[in-house]
This record gives sequence, structure tokens and C-alpha cells, in this order.
Amino acid sequence: MRKITIIGGGQSGLQLGLGLLKQGYKVRIVQNRTAEDIKTGRVMSSQCMFGESVQNERDLGIDFWTEDQCPPVEGISFAVPHPEEAGAKAIDWTGRLDRFAYSVDQRVKIPVWLEEFERLGGQLVIKEAGISDLELYAREDDLVLVASGKGDVGRLFERDAEKSPYDKPMRALALTYVTGMTPRPEHSAVCFNLIPGVGEYFVFPALTTTGPCEIMVFEGVPGGPMDCWGDVKSPEQHLAKSKEILSTFLPWEAERCTNIELTDDNGILAGRFPPTVRKPVATLPSGAKVLGIGDAVCLNDPITGQGSNNASKAAKVYMDRILARDDLPFDEAWMQGTFNAYWDYAQWVVNWTNMMLLPPPPHVLNIMGTACAEPRLANRITNGFDDPRDFFPWFADPQAAEAYLSQLQAA
Ligand SMILES: Cc1cc2nc3c(=O)[nH]c(=O)nc-3n(C[C@H](O)[C@H](O)[C@H](O)COP(=O)(O)OP(=O)(O)OC[C@H]3O[C@@H](n4cnc5c(N)ncnc54)[C@H](O)[C@@H]3O)c2cc1C
Repeated sequence: MRKITIIGGGQSGLQLGLGLLKQGYKVRIVQNRTAEDIKTGRVMSSQCMFGESVQNERDLGIDFWTEDQCPPVEGISFAVPHPEEAGAKAIDWTGRLDRFAYSVDQRVKIPVWLEEFERLGGQLVIKEAGISDLELYAREDDLVLVASGKGDVGRLFERDAEKSPYDKPMRALALTYVTGMTPRPEHSAVCFNLIPGVGEYFVFPALTTTGPCEIMVFEGVPGGPMDCWGDVKSPEQHLAKSKEILSTFLPWEAERCTNIELTDDNGILAGRFPPTVRKPVATLPSGAKVLGIGDAVCLNDPITGQGSNNASKAAKVYMDRILARDDLPFDEAWMQGTFNAYWDYAQWVVNWTNMMLLPPPPHVLNIMGTACAEPRLANRITNGFDDPRDFFPWFADPQAAEAYLSQLQAA
């Protein structure tokens, strides 16, 4: 029986570990926080997952929430405030998702998955894995995967400068988990607001430890007015700052928030990190090779809400490659080939996400503006969040954009 160790029990590590257990592999997951630490700790993400990623979990029988507990996200709306008319919108459209998206707080999901992992016979080791641990696991097992997210051990993988255009954080991030928000009329959605020069704000329904909630995500341009979390010292101040941003820049969103309250004192987060792609194979001092997965080697800014989706899709690609390898060794060429198979998809997500971190060029503003009167375009952009490959080339290239928009208008 083949033995695999995974460092990190988050979205990618646990999804892959659970999948491999169900295929009869012997799996060890090394995780630095217990289920209880995670359940009672601070929120980590807004983790909105679109159709394909939700399906990956359903296929493995580990989607325990989206049937009846987690409120669905049924569409995406997009708004840009009017530059001159206070309180008005210059761009405003909504698209429907073909398959609903869902956000299950990782404080809910991960503890249940850890329990399920042990129930299925997986070996869970609670410890902070360092290089000497990796050496041991590499000696004992057929394959060691590093799924440590933003954890320091991921620095083992060399930054890939060609695939990482930014060397500093591009947004000051904050999360605020709340209850009591007025629902969006018609249907639920990720309500995405772009405030030129200031940043982005998006909000959507989710399931947290206390039940249904809304997650507010703030993406402030560094040094701008939404890069404002440094002085916030308490959960109350964090909530007040969230409301203040909305009443200053997005009055239509502020209106929904008159009665909001934090889900819990840990329902807040502020931080920043540079989006970074790393080389997927690292060499330990002994010469043994380990393979990275998820954020450890492909870390995106959350502006497009793709990290958990990428982690899920990577877990699926890696699992298929592991199964197809049968009894052959997991050597360096196989490791690189496995990442390449994932990168065939992920490169488009990374390109699109990195593009969204820059001020929108005229052709993107034109696309976003045209979607106000063109529901087919609004729906296509909306469903692109489930598979961002569909944005290319027309979203990235001015000529392709013009050709596509004229074709759409002629049809
Ligand atoms: C503010 C914010 C908002 C986000 N919003 C979204 C969104 O809406 N949609 C979306 O798809 N994604 C979103 N993401 C990203 C998403 O949460 C991550 O991309 C995803 O969780 C990555 O999964 P992973 O398995 O790579 O790592 P993680 O889920 O981070 O798991 C890594 C695990 O490894 C453990 N670990 C680390 N080091 C060690 C070690 N040395 N030894 C043992 N264990 C270790 C960690 O404790 C953790 O449990 C957001 C992220 C942030 C910060």
C-alpha cells in the first residue's frame, strides 16, 4: 500500500488526503493546529467556492453543508460609484451563476474534515512540521506533499520570479463576519464594488460557527483610505471601521448594514501578503524531493476569490495524477509534471487575478460598462469566476475585447 504524507490540513491537504484514503492509500496529515484550535480561533478566509470546486467535494462525499445548512450565493453583482453624483452608481449589473457558490467558514469545515480523516483511518499528527520532520517523512513514505498555505515551511520552495509580477502586497485586506445585514433583493450574490483608486469591497452570504452570516471583504489599495486597519484595536472598532468605510464610499452597501453585529469576536481579520508563485519541487538537505500544493506554491490575492477554488482544483489534479502513477516512483519529473498539469489551469487564474490588482484599463471598463445593458455579458463574467479560463483572451486583450463586444452587440 502506498504511503503519502501531507504537511498542512487545510482546503488542499485535507481534500486530497480524504480522497486518497477513500482510494485505499495510507495517508498521514501533519497539522499544526488542532480541530479545537481552529474551531475557536480567528477566521482565516472568506472561502467562497464556485460550482466546480463544490462539485469536487460532492464527488468525494465530503460536502456536508451545501445541501441544507449553508446559504447559497446565486449570482454576482458589480458596481462602481459615480465619480460626480454622490450616492449614484456609474456601473451597476448583476449576473446569475449557472451553479450556486457556497462559503463554509473554514472554522466549520476543517474540524469536521479532520474528524472524518481520522474516522476513515488517516493518521493525524498534530505538530509544526520543520525540515527534519520532512526528511523523516520523505524517508518513510512514497511521497511528501507540502500543503502549508501561508505557513513558513513553504519558503522551502523558491519564489518563481517569472510567474510572480509583484514583490509586495497589493492590497490591505480585512474580513468582517456579521449577522443582521439586509439581504440583497431578488436573489443572493457576491456584491462586488470597485472604488477606483481606493480598493474593492465585496460581501456575500456564508455559513459560520453560529449559523448563517454575511462576510464583508475589504481590499484597500496600500496607502489609500481603505488601508486603515492599523489603529483598530478591538472587535468593536473593527466593526465600526467597516461601517465607516461603507458610509464614506458605498452608501447603498451602508444601507444594508444599519443593524449588523459581529458573528463573534473572532469573526474579524486584517493583514496583507504579496501574491507569490513558487517553484513546485523543493530539495531537502538530504537530496529528497517534496512537492508543493495550494497556497504554498500558488498564492493569489483574494480579490477574485479564487484561493480555495484553486486549492480544490489542485487537489483534484494531484489526486488523478497520483492514482494514474500506480506503483511507479513519485520522482522529480512526475512532481514537476503534476504541477504543470495544474498550472495549465491555474496560470489563467493567476493572470486574471493579477490583472484585477491594477487600475482597470479602458477596455476592461468598457466590458464592465457594456454588461449593464447586456445580460449575456453579465452572466458570462459571473460564470467566469467558476472557470476563469473563459476570460481569455477577450478580457485581457483590447482587440479581442472589441471584437467580442461587437460580435455580442450584432447578435
Ligand atoms: C482575506 C482572505 C479572503 C479569502 N477569500 C477567499 C474566497 O472568497 N474564495 C476563495 O476561494 N479563497 C479565498 N481565500 C483564499 C483561501 O482561503 C486559501 O487560498 C485556501 O485556504 C488555501 O488552501 P491551502 O490548502 O493551500 O492552505 P490553507 O487552507 O491555508 O491550509 C494550510 C494548513 O497548513 C497548516 N500549516 C502551516 N504550516 C504548517 C506546518 N509547518 N506544519 C503543519 N501544519 C502547517 C495551517 O495551519 C493550515 O491549517 C481568501 C484568503 C484570505 C486571506
